[in-house]
Amino acid sequence: MARGRPEIDIDRCKGCALCTVACPQKILEMSIETNNQGNSYSQCIDESKCTACTMCAVQCPDSAIQIYKIVQEAK
Ligand code: SF4
Ligand code: SF4
Repeated sequence: MARGRPEIDIDRCKGCALCTVACPQKILEMSIETNNQGNSYSQCIDESKCTACTMCAVQCPDSAIQIYKIVQEAK
């Protein structure tokens, strides 16, 4: 299965939590701390489970999430 890494621009996050609902792996959670806008922000709690499906990034109304695919070298 493909692996990925979500990169969340926490200061763009408005705290809507849509990405946490969208993630099939349930690895996105809202923070207790707040960003520079005073919002709770999305954070990834286990990058090892990210499949690079991009559902979170597609859902984000503020384009605050980028997904990087992890390319594995052929052995
Ligand atoms: S790319 Fe998919 S698995 Fe990874 S954090 Fe986003 S929704 Fe979850
Ligand atoms: S969908 Fe975007 S704005 Fe909403 S909580 Fe997730 S990262 Fe933040």
